[in-house]
Amino acid sequence: MNGKLRKALKPSLIIAASIWFLAQVMYVSISGFMTFQDKSHAFSAKANEIADCLDRRITQNFAFVRSFEIFATLSDLEAMKIFGSLVQHTMKQYPRIRTVNLYELPKDDNPLYARRMANFPADQNDAAIQTILPKVVNQPHGTLRAFADINFPGQYITTAHAENANFHYAIVMLVDAEEMIKPLLQDGSPKMEWDIGDTPIIRLNDRQNAPFSFELQSNRTIVSSAPNIMPDDSTRFSEKTVFHLSETVKLYELFTLIDLIVYCGLSTIAVVASYYALHQHQLSRRLQRSEDNALKRAARLEKETRLEHAARVNAVGELAAGIIHELAQPLSSLLNQSQASLKTLEEGEAIPQTDFLRRTMTANIREAKRASLILGRIRDYIVYKSASPEATELNSSILDIVEILNPEIKRQGVSLMLDLAEPSPTASINKIELEQVIHNLVRNAIDALSASHQTVKRITIETLIDQNNSIIRISDNGSGLSEETLEQLFQPFFTTKDSGMGLGLSLSQRIVERVNGVLSASNKNGAVFTVTLPKLDIAPMLTFPTTKAA
Ligand code: ADP
Repeated sequence: MNGKLRKALKPSLIIAASIWFLAQVMYVSISGFMTFQDKSHAFSAKANEIADCLDRRITQNFAFVRSFEIFATLSDLEAMKIFGSLVQHTMKQYPRIRTVNLYELPKDDNPLYARRMANFPADQNDAAIQTILPKVVNQPHGTLRAFADINFPGQYITTAHAENANFHYAIVMLVDAEEMIKPLLQDGSPKMEWDIGDTPIIRLNDRQNAPFSFELQSNRTIVSSAPNIMPDDSTRFSEKTVFHLSETVKLYELFTLIDLIVYCGLSTIAVVASYYALHQHQLSRRLQRSEDNALKRAARLEKETRLEHAARVNAVGELAAGIIHELAQPLSSLLNQSQASLKTLEEGEAIPQTDFLRRTMTANIREAKRASLILGRIRDYIVYKSASPEATELNSSILDIVEILNPEIKRQGVSLMLDLAEPSPTASINKIELEQVIHNLVRNAIDALSASHQTVKRITIETLIDQNNSIIRISDNGSGLSEETLEQLFQPFFTTKDSGMGLGLSLSQRIVERVNGVLSASNKNGAVFTVTLPKLDIAPMLTFPTTKAA
């Protein structure tokens, strides 16, 4: 994974994307489930209504046969006429009734001697109907029956076995099952199967197995087994009779595209807006915090600088004032006299030891100037001036200090190793102040080695660059820093040296921190001091108010 992608996949972004994804999954599941429930309830209601209606029609068919039977068994001409017109009228009103046949049977119910008394419609060939008669004569007298016959697909048969004083009768009525049901089904739904025993009566709206679909089902059993049917049984089916209703719901029917788009759009806007608001809030809090920290840090540095300055003035002020007082007068008169003597010598007659005197005078002048310079430096030290930062090459500052301290390094038998990065790291820091820091650190390393018993004494000075910083590392193989020393190292006036002031490191730390750098110390086969300075191109050019001592 490259850096950019890793950066883009921030944890908060992953959380937002996960919330969005979960919201989509939940919406799709809940809305799909609810629509499925609605469809399922609607289907059950519809299936029950259809089954109830079929039940009523079957009962009605039995009632027709019963009313035909009443007139058939009256056995006179008038009654037969009424029978005929009743059947015709009923068939006209209810087109599902395909045929009605009336047979007269002998007293022994032998179907071979059955005589057709009436048939509707008149032009039918009733040979097939006669095959049913053996079943009818097996019924007890006065009963009605319903059953399927392989010779009459798509139809069911309702029969009556009746008797009067002279004759026995069989009435056979064929009912078109499809005609009975079709008006109840709309647009090919639901699918319907009707079985009487093992005989399928109808198969309407055949089921198809569509992918990604669910099947809703409802069964209505009219007769669950072949019961011992009593004459007053309302159903009168002699075999197991089942209506099977079903409806296929395709997965896509559970969702409306427009709902999905609207929900997806709204939830995306909500999640993106929340994420953006949260992100902005975090950003502003982070900015506020770093601003507060910078202000606190600046205030602390300012205060510490003043305190440090005051402390320095207190500690060194008296000493320096004494030195100035003591040395200023004699030094200036020494300078004046020496200059005057030299002038006299140059202008006047030649006298013996002229050369010697000239050399002496020259030395006096040089020493006097040096003393005056020292006093100037002490004055500068007391009167604090904040040096302005500038682009400084670390390598060059190091080489300057090495040149100054080289005689001392050699005298102490120390070998110096330089490992400087090329091109030189740079930082925004006053060059003189940086050299002061390097001078302090190298000086301390020389002191530590001179006090140690190492046979090979070594100081290493390195410069390095990392992503944001320019770094100087000064290490030695002296005795290192004890835990106690490490704790107090940067405190003003902390020293373990007899002649030490204990100000070098605290002053160096202030200088480095003033340009947002860090001075740190550690142990690694001796002491290691690291100066970390912000790289010039990214270093914030912080300015601090210049403090002038009164
Ligand atoms: P001073 O040099 O006057 O003592 P500093 O502030 O420069 O003041 O140093 C404080 C103390 O830190 C020293 O007295 C010494 O104990 C310890 N120190 C500094 N540098 C080293 C070093 N390279 N090795 C061991 N100790 C050190």
